[in-house]
Amino acid sequence: MLPVSEDLDFDPNELRARYRAERDRRIRPDGATQYRDVAGEFGFYADDPHADPDFTREPLHDEVEVVVIGGGLGGLLAGARLRQAGVGSIRVVEKGGDFGGTWYWNRYPGIHCDIESYVYLPLLDELGYVPEWKYSPGEEIRRHARAIGEHFDLYRDACFQTAVTELRWDEDAARWIVSTDRGDRMRARYVVMSNGTMDRPKLPGIPGIDTFKGHTFHTSRWDYGYTGGDAGGNLTGLAGKRVALIGTGATAIQVVPHLGRDAQQLYVFQRTPSTVDYRDNRPTDPEWAASLEPGWQRQRMENFLGIVSGGSVDEDLVGDAWTGSARLLRKITAGGQADSLTPEERERAEEILDFRKMNQVRARVDDIVRDRETAELLKPWYRYACKRPTFSDEYLQTFNRPNVTLVDTADHGGVERVTENALVVGDREYEVDCIIFATGFQVAMSDMITGRLPVYGRDGVHLLQHWSRGPRTLHGFYSDGFPNLLTLGAFQNAASVNYAHILDEQASHIAAVVAEAGKRGARWVEPSAESVDAWAAALGENAEELYKFHLECTPGYYNNEGKPHPRQGYAKGATAFHAMLRDWRDNGGMDDVMVIAG
Ligand code: NDP
Repeated sequence: MLPVSEDLDFDPNELRARYRAERDRRIRPDGATQYRDVAGEFGFYADDPHADPDFTREPLHDEVEVVVIGGGLGGLLAGARLRQAGVGSIRVVEKGGDFGGTWYWNRYPGIHCDIESYVYLPLLDELGYVPEWKYSPGEEIRRHARAIGEHFDLYRDACFQTAVTELRWDEDAARWIVSTDRGDRMRARYVVMSNGTMDRPKLPGIPGIDTFKGHTFHTSRWDYGYTGGDAGGNLTGLAGKRVALIGTGATAIQVVPHLGRDAQQLYVFQRTPSTVDYRDNRPTDPEWAASLEPGWQRQRMENFLGIVSGGSVDEDLVGDAWTGSARLLRKITAGGQADSLTPEERERAEEILDFRKMNQVRARVDDIVRDRETAELLKPWYRYACKRPTFSDEYLQTFNRPNVTLVDTADHGGVERVTENALVVGDREYEVDCIIFATGFQVAMSDMITGRLPVYGRDGVHLLQHWSRGPRTLHGFYSDGFPNLLTLGAFQNAASVNYAHILDEQASHIAAVVAEAGKRGARWVEPSAESVDAWAAALGENAEELYKFHLECTPGYYNNEGKPHPRQGYAKGATAFHAMLRDWRDNGGMDDVMVIAG
């Protein structure tokens, strides 16, 4: 018998049919090509509002041990772990004007990390810092990123406001030549790529978008010059303004309460509603902070990852809506009972638990939103993991304000048209003074993979040419033919929602490899073609299952707008991936990537 009561207070068939219908009415034939790149006439959407426009420096033609590309949390962690491993000469090259990555760019009102700060902010133990809130505001994370840069002496040799334009391997010298848009041609023994997977804003390709005469910007480049106020709100510039916000993802959830409070009129243009669970943010208890013993953060991070990655973990140290949902959804599969279920029984049991979770989410909308029609529109009809879950104790409440209107665009493929002064959906025009795009980012598009950053390895072979029959890595970190090039990110390995933790494990791993190469006097680090082939074969064990799951979801970036790619990830999840890496390091794996003679 299934460990889920069949005495249900809902009809699974009805829900299945509803989910399917909600998905079908949102699928667009143009899929992911519906978006516009922020280039050319739209390039200003990606400009850096925080950097010094007059900054200049002399080009560099020197040599360092490691060039780290990207000064976000991944680059900082790589720098920190390499420093701890004894590497003296590290240069971080970063497009923005300071460290922080996503937290450097995103400064919109209400910005917080929706993962608990005690497990998200990196290196808390090392820096002796305990965040002020359970969920940190963006400003605290940016400050912490700078503190990591100071602590590990990464500012000394950093190059900000600099974009790498080419990587070229010089075989004779066993060095990379790193060219940049500031005329640099530096040489490095190692290059660590950590240039982000969601750093490029995207715009919807709405007809007429270029004809709008009012003010516009993307949430990741918030224009406080126009809105007034700061990340804490108080957007005084919006008094008397009619504002349109397009998008209702994790960013919009945090922005909407502030816009609702301060704009004269706010129109929220929604295509698919998010799940909005409770937040319950609170200041850190000083007594608890004082009681923490060394090693506390690692233990908490592992505990959180174990729970959200579907492991069987008894204790829940974080105890929030993330872990609560994960525990609920995994009640069956993580326990011993799972072994006695057939795959079909397991899938059915998981689906029932998912329906229950989503019924709770929908009931919460009814409890909070007073207008019945608006409440119906705000209810998400899809499985919990179809879209990034969100958390807020203010978002849904904002729709009870008389100056806030939810505009449903689901049957129109989104906002249909923009005119000189309005947005058009169906037969209605909404006149506004300002359009704010909360429309997200181009995803999983490291510049190396898109080809925007050309990488030439041994014999001048372009990385994408080498990968013409599919990506080739060992554990996602390095590729044959591209010695001493180490990559962090969510590619051909295992990711999870606490991405900072994932990056930390990756950074620690590559630092261990670099340190070992130094110890052994290796000429360079490079996996054998055989080990790369073996890794490709080991990936994708559950690709079919994931593919089917995502095919049934409403479109979004999780499923490539309704046309899911076969996924290439580590099927057993992040905790198992980290254990596998430890085992690889301890039991001879290093022998495979150390090339001693050239
Ligand atoms: P998303 O890609 O999640 O959301 C984009 C939104 O724009 C969606 O609601 C989408 O609707 C909507 N949209 C796109 N085109 C149109 C159109 N033509 N008309 C109407 N609506 C449209 O971007 P976000 O910036 O919200 O979030 C991106 C990611 O960043 C998150 O998923 C999360 O990983 C991360 N993030 C993390 C936070 C944290 O605290 N850790 C906070 C904020 C973001 P539809 O769904 O129908 O496509």
